[in-house]
Amino acid sequence: MTDLHIDGQRLWRSLEELGRVGAYTDERTGLIGVNRLALTAADGDGRRLVKRWFEEAGLAVRVDAIGNCIGRREGRDPSKAPVMAGSHIDSVPTAGRFDGCLGVLGALEVVRTLNDARVATERPLEIAFFTDEEGCRFGTDMLGSAVACGRLPLERALGLCDKDGKRAGDELRAIGFSGDHPARLAPPRAYVECHIEQGPILAAAGMDLGVVTGVQGISWWELTIAGRAAHAGTTPMRLRRDPGLAAALINVRLDEMARSGRYGAEMRATMGRIDPRPGLVNIVPSQVVCTVDLRNPEDADMAAAERDLFAYVKEIETRLGVTVEARQTARTPRIRFSPDVQAVIARQMERAHLRFETILSGAGHDAQELSALCPTAMIFVPGEHDGISHNPREYSTPEACARGVDVLLHTLLELGAT
Ligand SMILES: [Zn+2]
Repeated sequence: MTDLHIDGQRLWRSLEELGRVGAYTDERTGLIGVNRLALTAADGDGRRLVKRWFEEAGLAVRVDAIGNCIGRREGRDPSKAPVMAGSHIDSVPTAGRFDGCLGVLGALEVVRTLNDARVATERPLEIAFFTDEEGCRFGTDMLGSAVACGRLPLERALGLCDKDGKRAGDELRAIGFSGDHPARLAPPRAYVECHIEQGPILAAAGMDLGVVTGVQGISWWELTIAGRAAHAGTTPMRLRRDPGLAAALINVRLDEMARSGRYGAEMRATMGRIDPRPGLVNIVPSQVVCTVDLRNPEDADMAAAERDLFAYVKEIETRLGVTVEARQTARTPRIRFSPDVQAVIARQMERAHLRFETILSGAGHDAQELSALCPTAMIFVPGEHDGISHNPREYSTPEACARGVDVLLHTLLELGAT
């Protein structure tokens, strides 16, 4: 069994074909990107393609009430809990072809390989793509896996609205993926996700692959800062209540906090959206909506950073005469993956004589939801161009992708054998 290998070219062709769904040409760079924002028509097209591939691979496919799509390859003992692999195929609006898709199409490639070699596993094997992992349309990431694993109630997820007021539940129905299977997932034996690293660490260290030990804590906020609109030429500085200035000061403060080391060496802070109204050159804005993204591998440091940030926000309210309404849009604690599943993954990498190291994920993944349900770990595949992701330049070589999925194959075989 150890000489069994996945078909790297077939995997690559599938990545390319799915990458053509929702493809667009970036006007500035001429690069081809992917836009399969969750529950749009393009996401629906991508889903139908991959669901068809699941069916063609002989899987029994079910779609659940939050639109997660799960294909099952029966085991010798159907009563045993399945071994599971998967990821997501929705994307940010400016994506490449690999984020999420590698884990889903990699799991599919594992099934195709087992089918070709007529290999039966003791446990059933289930492969999945989960709904709206990216979270940039309805504001909550890992939406489908969070519902499947019990962190988020189904009704609340279906009721989330995008910026045009469209409900997730309605959009799910519109693309034909409001399934009738219950969304809550019975605990699998284990869950393994192969994903691109989306960062520069593995490539810089000359590694073939990474064993992911967990995911750092994530805290998202939306700040609505209200001030007073005023004429930019006639209103003296001292009479202004400028929410744009407030957003700028908070952003600078975030940078100082992250660089200070007071919240650990690994704190990261980003204000990714700053949206002034009316947003015109000669008007002091009346309102600014901005977002804050905090990351930290230590929960206590994260809590301290949040406390200090909001103490500063209070200070800004008083100093500038603005009011700040803060809404938490996502918060996940530091996740620690299963040492046992990490050991199985590392063993396959050693056996294949690969260079690898352990790594903490900087980004959120469906695996962190699954880890609440069953022993879970991830395989990271390094990316080119400093691991740039959520960008048309996102790229991992065919060889790197094949190496990661080959390790996925043998990890699933070992976990599914007893
Ligand atoms: Zn992803």
